[in-house]
Amino acid sequence: MKKIIFFDIDKTLVDKNYNYEDGLFVVEKLKKQGFEIILNSSKTRAEQEYYRKIFNINTPFIVENGSAVYIPTGYFKNLDLPQRDIYNVLELGIPYYTIVEHLFAIEKEFGLKYYANSTFEEVKKFLGMTEELARLATMREYSETIFRYKKSGFEKILKNRGLTCQMGSRFIAVLGDTNKGKGMDALLNFYRKELPEIKVYAAGDGANDFPMFERADKSFLLGEKDYPGVIKISNIRELLEFI
Ligand code: MG
Repeated sequence: MKKIIFFDIDKTLVDKNYNYEDGLFVVEKLKKQGFEIILNSSKTRAEQEYYRKIFNINTPFIVENGSAVYIPTGYFKNLDLPQRDIYNVLELGIPYYTIVEHLFAIEKEFGLKYYANSTFEEVKKFLGMTEELARLATMREYSETIFRYKKSGFEKILKNRGLTCQMGSRFIAVLGDTNKGKGMDALLNFYRKELPEIKVYAAGDGANDFPMFERADKSFLLGEKDYPGVIKISNIRELLEFI
């Protein structure tokens, strides 16, 4: 039986100070045990490519909260999906500029601050990342991030405009009608065509990870939140004790 584990990145594989040593330790152990490691994050393709190098993985990955599945070309047989660079891409979300147009229309009313109306200096401050990582975060394709707002209620307006808001580890993501669980379903369909038996695992810390837990056979939850049926762990290394 093939074991596939879906990982959130922020505050899961990478801690709040962007340290990844524990995450790397866990990923390497799981790889030795034959696990397929899948990144499923609100992060952009560019950011995830950075982390794929760090974790030394060449598996498919799911970007911007289930907005697109990137599959290295040739990874699955007979894939009928558009080609982009070295990947086949399945898009589930909507283009970034469409989202920004909607936000632009309501930003004054709600005092919204997001990538497209912030300077790079402001973005760096919000994210607290290195310059290199912040640059990769600005390379957005399918979702915006609300860093700050003055008035609530914008979620409902955005919903009426066909967008969804999802709470991540730190910020609110605005995107199309998708989530990490839908991205996971789409990718698992490709695996199921080639593998008779799969056991699915998931690990995350935020409300945007709950759709992954819904679908996994075994889930791990870090941090303060609760979700029925998950195994609560206080750091990522603990996952190895329970898997
Ligand atoms: Mg997270």
